[in-house]
Amino acid sequence: MKNLAIWGTLSPTRTNPDFMTLFGVRLLYPLSERQWRAGLVLLVAYVAATRLSTFAFAAPGLIFPASGIALGGMFLEGYALWPFVFAASIIGYVLSGASPLYLLFLPAAHTLQAVIGAYILRKSGLDPLFRKLKDMLLMVTVALCISVVVPSIGSAARALHYHLANIPPSSVTWFSWYIATVFSLIIVTPFIIRWFAKPRFTRTPIEWLEIAVTFGFLCALSYLLFFTSSPSVIGISLVYFLLVPLFWIALRLRPRFITLALIILSSFALGSIYLGVNAATADQIGVRLFQTEMFLEIIAIIFFVISSLEEDRRMTTNFMKSQVDSLRLTLRKLSGQDRAKSEFMAMLAHELRNPLAPIASAIDLLRLEPEAAKRSDLLEIMDERMRTVRRLLDDLLDVSRINEKKLSLEKEEVRIEEVVRRAVLSTEGQFRERLQTLALELPPESLVLYGDPVRLEQIVTNLLTNASKYSHEGGAVTLSVMEERASILIVVRDNGVGIDRSMLGRIFDPFLQVEQGERTRKGLGIGLSLVRTLVELHDGTVRVESDGKDCGSTFFVQLPLLRLEHKGDPSERPKEEPPKAVGPSVLVVDDNDSASWGIGKLLELSGCAVSYAYDGEQATAIALQSSPDAVLLDIGLPDQDGYSVAAELRERGYTGLLIALTGYSLPEDQKKAREAGFDEYLVKPIGLADLRRALSLS
Ligand code: ADP
Repeated sequence: MKNLAIWGTLSPTRTNPDFMTLFGVRLLYPLSERQWRAGLVLLVAYVAATRLSTFAFAAPGLIFPASGIALGGMFLEGYALWPFVFAASIIGYVLSGASPLYLLFLPAAHTLQAVIGAYILRKSGLDPLFRKLKDMLLMVTVALCISVVVPSIGSAARALHYHLANIPPSSVTWFSWYIATVFSLIIVTPFIIRWFAKPRFTRTPIEWLEIAVTFGFLCALSYLLFFTSSPSVIGISLVYFLLVPLFWIALRLRPRFITLALIILSSFALGSIYLGVNAATADQIGVRLFQTEMFLEIIAIIFFVISSLEEDRRMTTNFMKSQVDSLRLTLRKLSGQDRAKSEFMAMLAHELRNPLAPIASAIDLLRLEPEAAKRSDLLEIMDERMRTVRRLLDDLLDVSRINEKKLSLEKEEVRIEEVVRRAVLSTEGQFRERLQTLALELPPESLVLYGDPVRLEQIVTNLLTNASKYSHEGGAVTLSVMEERASILIVVRDNGVGIDRSMLGRIFDPFLQVEQGERTRKGLGIGLSLVRTLVELHDGTVRVESDGKDCGSTFFVQLPLLRLEHKGDPSERPKEEPPKAVGPSVLVVDDNDSASWGIGKLLELSGCAVSYAYDGEQATAIALQSSPDAVLLDIGLPDQDGYSVAAELRERGYTGLLIALTGYSLPEDQKKAREAGFDEYLVKPIGLADLRRALSLS
């Protein structure tokens, strides 16, 4: 077969169109077997179509479906088929007895038109299944544009012919030739492309029934419209009725069947003209042909657009559906994996907790040993580490409980100070160990909320633990509780390592740890996610603020307030479950009652008996009367300054510990304080560790 390929192949595959290969530049390339077959089919179909239109109308310029066949075939099989189009065109013209001048121009014009059209369509990546509006629009635009080729060259040839042979010009104008060419390219080409690009397709029996009924209706209407003398029903033209099956096909049966419907409609229309229904003279036939072609072209463009829009919508919907399905599947898989992970975590935490119990008992036993006092530092370390491990395991268990939705709260009325007291007690060791201060600022009133006391304590403990963990040695942490717009606001502020702004939004995500060197390794990254879940289970919110690295962090927890209990003067507050005062008695003197209340609470937690005074006069009276072991004296009092109070107390024989509380730490202030008789000098904010040190509490 190779030596037969005298025209050469231009593009053996359909995917590499380029003009270099057009018109036999690559003469040595053979045609593939498939192209030969396609070319021969194209040739036969082309000649048959030419004969049919010539035979039917005896004026091939007016109706020429062969152009549509040529363009469709070349788009599907490549430009290599151009010689077949050329040959078929020559044969067609010879058989219809065209003059030699026509033979010289028109086959070349037809071939050129098909090659240009196929080139543009293939270069533009036309989807042969017409699944998008852009494909249909491309097809229509190309048909409208390239249809000028044949009429223009043909008209020139005809003019020359008439000039040479001195024959008067025919009634076929350039425009009617153009309309006939457009008709062929718009009606025939999409049909060929759509049906031959994917000849196989499936439909359910119901769909076949729908297709049969719709096309039956279309054929019946077409027949009535084109073959009867009065194509109207109760005065309404059947053309309008025709829209019904056409809309149905465009919206339901998709582009493939709309191309078929247009071929059927055209066949009925042209058939009726051929048979001379409703037209007598040849001129009338010419006019009707022109009008019918125009009508069918407009109908074709409208319904191509509708069907491709609908196809586009259908494809998008199907795509979305498949995406949703795959998302669902992934979600199911993920939640399965998540459950397995939670179960594993729960099991691991359980298994690791079991051996902790005997270790805890062993530490207690060791404490009872006569030698224990000597090793008390070691025992303390062991005890502290063990508590840390236990807390981590508890957190792990809680996370898996939350994942499995098994975490339930045991809610009751809770005073927030109680929660704070227990949280401070359980983290106190950590602050002491890192020489950090923990300052408390509590409200003068009792704030009551409805919640689970254990979980609430866990929230505050986690925040305090982090505040200590992510602060430097000697850092200062403040825990403030206040009432704000009918809710309880708990604020934990530290002056530690801070959080990068970019991480603030993700800090509460489970297992997220911001890389912070050594410190990060001390946790699992679940503390804050637990805090958030627990806060949300209490219908509250939690957020964090930080100005970035080394600027400290502030966590805000907001919880719904159940009620507020006024207690009057803080010194008269009934103390709910006050810890037994086994330590020294301390008089706290500060005009800011929430500050003194916070300090008092810290002292009470350490076992001190606390009394309060709010100005210098009151302080002197109480101190001299009850002789507390220590007086914590604010320097800035409303009636006189702390220095004069201290001096007066010393003068009047007070021998206890005098501790100055001040916002400044200038050397001259310290000197002044010593001269006034103070033993210690503390700079606000004052934490538990400061107080313990100043009072020499162990
Ligand atoms: P971890 O076990 O790592 O402490 P958390 O969930 O408690 O886990 O905290 C998550 C991350 O948030 C920590 O790794 C830390 O980087 C950051 N973080 C938490 N609290 C603070 C804080 N007070 N200051 C700075 N960074 C913090």
